[in-house]
Amino acid sequence: MTIDISRIRADTPGCEDLIHFNNAGAALTPAPVLETVIGHLRREAEIGGYEAAAEAGNATARAYDSAARLVGGAADEIAFIENATRAWDMAFYGFNWQRGDRILTAQAEYVSNYIAYLQVAQRYGVEVVAVPDDEHGQISVEALERLIDSRTRLIAITHIPTNGGLVNPAAAVGKIAKAHDIPFLLDACQSVGQMPIDVDAIGCDMLSATGRKYLRGPRGTGFLWVRRNWIEKLEPPFLDLHAATWTGPDSFEIQPDARRFENWETYVAGKLGLGAAIDYALDLGLPAIRDAVYARATRLRNGLASLPAYTVQDKGVEKCGIVSFSGAGHDPADIKQALADQKINVTVSRRSSTLLDMTAQNLETMVRASVHYYNTDTEVDRFCEAIDAVAS
Ligand SMILES: *Cc1c(COP(=O)(O)O)cnc(C)c1O
Repeated sequence: MTIDISRIRADTPGCEDLIHFNNAGAALTPAPVLETVIGHLRREAEIGGYEAAAEAGNATARAYDSAARLVGGAADEIAFIENATRAWDMAFYGFNWQRGDRILTAQAEYVSNYIAYLQVAQRYGVEVVAVPDDEHGQISVEALERLIDSRTRLIAITHIPTNGGLVNPAAAVGKIAKAHDIPFLLDACQSVGQMPIDVDAIGCDMLSATGRKYLRGPRGTGFLWVRRNWIEKLEPPFLDLHAATWTGPDSFEIQPDARRFENWETYVAGKLGLGAAIDYALDLGLPAIRDAVYARATRLRNGLASLPAYTVQDKGVEKCGIVSFSGAGHDPADIKQALADQKINVTVSRRSSTLLDMTAQNLETMVRASVHYYNTDTEVDRFCEAIDAVAS
């Protein structure tokens, strides 16, 4: 199955007069997503928010099924949460951290996750260890296995870091986690929607994802998947009338399924829009999406490699749709602006977003150009011409 790019672009009004290479920031939403969100907002205005939610009950239930299908889980293992960070938090802060517990993570870990590690380290005396990279710049699975000890309570890594093309070997990590019976939390924020994800093949126990990046969903949406046998072992840091039931003057019961990680008041239009975005991706097929994204990214890396002014910084054996580079003598912020003036969207990755990785590479900032399946080879070639002109 291949992607009919002209049909897809016809569905994507935003791609008509700009080159959007900021898909790892927020991708352009396709028409069915936009229509779903706006349609629901209109119903809220016409008949009332609660009434519109009731009317959309079946569509909401289908969104859980779709999210479950997307990652290979079950609908009652899915919680819709307002973004990937909070989704991840609801799992991470659900552990009953004890002094001396050890968390194993990776060098390219995302800033918000690492801040959470440091917070529980300071609060409870937990030890955080960032496993070294292997010679390809991905997490070393040998080092990971060596660092596991009897105090290791969690393995938590980022699948695809926010700052580059690296795809960490998540399934190899999952195999080790399983062999040592240690829970595995995967930040799949940049991989969900970009490639096939199967929680059983990966062997993770918890996975977080966002709506607006490769899934092309609305902003302010995300979800958490938690393997059934882990749900009741995690006590969410916050509870409300949706996550729990007040059963008596001195008692409450937490929901037995992944609803415990959600809260009651929610962006219903966004949830429905995310469901539509997931269905859109499932219809195209995640293998076809990955192949198209990788093909465009490879073309872009090759184009950049032929320009002496730039250095591609992507690491790892497998490289995805995020292309990061630096330009000799050019501030990435100026490069971004020069491209924006020509209606080309990229972004700048800063050291503080992946501090360990950027410090090890001695990089302060990089340009991040992240491509999607709706981008064309022509756009990639125009991008390379534009960036060449910036350098001269
Ligand atoms: C963007 C990103 C996040 C945070 O996602 P939000 O939806 O903004 O909370 C987490 N991890 C990685 C790797 C990201 O790129």
